Amino acid sequence: MGASRLPLRLLPVHIGRIDPLRIAVLAPPWIPVPPPGYGGIEAVVDLLCEALVARGHEVTLFAAPGSRSTARVISPLKDAHPDEIGSSLCESDHVACAFEEIDLAAERGRAFDVVHDHSGFAALAMADRVAAPVVHTLHGAFVEGTVPFYQRHGHKARLVAISRSQALSAPPGVRVVDVVPNPIVVDRWPLRVKKQDYLLWVGRMDLVKGPDRAIEAARLAGRTLVLAGPVQPGQEQYYRALVEPHIDGRTVHYIGEVGGTAKQELFANAAALLMPVRWREPFGMVMVEALACGTPVIAFPEGAAAEIVIDGENGILVADVTEMAHAVERLGSIDPERCRASVVDRYDVSIAATGYERVYREAINAERKRHPSRATGNVPVSVRLPALPLTAS
Ligand code: UDP
Repeated sequence: MGASRLPLRLLPVHIGRIDPLRIAVLAPPWIPVPPPGYGGIEAVVDLLCEALVARGHEVTLFAAPGSRSTARVISPLKDAHPDEIGSSLCESDHVACAFEEIDLAAERGRAFDVVHDHSGFAALAMADRVAAPVVHTLHGAFVEGTVPFYQRHGHKARLVAISRSQALSAPPGVRVVDVVPNPIVVDRWPLRVKKQDYLLWVGRMDLVKGPDRAIEAARLAGRTLVLAGPVQPGQEQYYRALVEPHIDGRTVHYIGEVGGTAKQELFANAAALLMPVRWREPFGMVMVEALACGTPVIAFPEGAAAEIVIDGENGILVADVTEMAHAVERLGSIDPERCRASVVDRYDVSIAATGYERVYREAINAERKRHPSRATGNVPVSVRLPALPLTAS
């Protein structure tokens, strides 16, 4: 990415209280870490690895070729596969190779204390096959197709939600006790107080994310809309039918997938980010990124959008496209500086790093109680930090 890499905010580091851990982090196999363009999970993994290494942990990152990190990087596959997101061939190959490395490390007396999986389904389904406890971050929503999977395999790892809404939507039999929000380093995003006129939509071209609804809202508001994001496999038909016909290069612009400083400038200069989602949004990194740039978010109150957007403070929550169009007239009442502050307080990377350190230790301690003989040389000190409450905001 072209974004500048300023030093991370390292506090709070509990020197003397937290023993360094050996952590294996599994990123998905398709897109490098950090992502050159689209890639919310990869952006999260990037920041988290960097923060954990800065806190003294020994981190090994299993990620797509082309990945860079202050953690030790292992790329089991030969190539990245950004055009095959979701391919089970890539995922099972990547995970099986990572598990082999994890087993090998144990045989060599350098066992990992914990495995932190961000990679999809294969690692969770097989999580009881590795000796180290597995922490699995839920990056997707619980939807009809995935619920039986989590009910069958969810108990094999410690499941972490990325928003309270997502945790509360866990189906019966699926235990989610931890909420660790996705991180951002706000200092790496430009604050722009004076905005241009255009409205912005950024994401994958999917019905749930609603670029078609963003077009409708911008048309009703009489404003220019810029759309950015990839058309991923399986989204072509939706894109051709509901988005492409409206792209005229005058009022609706589609600039494809963006990354680096171009993406940051796009966020920073926009009058607002439109987030007309129609699903239980698990998190929505684009909202936090826009807010970091001082750009308000106008969102449907679905899932985490209703947690990230504080109505009237850093954006406006609206019920439908018509309300979204009307909300554009009220953007002047939202202060860009407060937008940015609303992110620093709640999503700084130090919060995620501290949260995951707690989760790791609890997972390790639980594993030691279950299997005392499996304990690695690194006996963790239990550091109890307050869990985020699982109550609706
Ligand atoms: N993104 C990007 N370039 C694009 C479109 C998206 O870099 O053209 C990034 C965006 O900045 C965000 C991520 O991809 O970091 C999307 O994450 P989000 O949580 O918003 O959506 P999801 O993971 O559900 O697709």
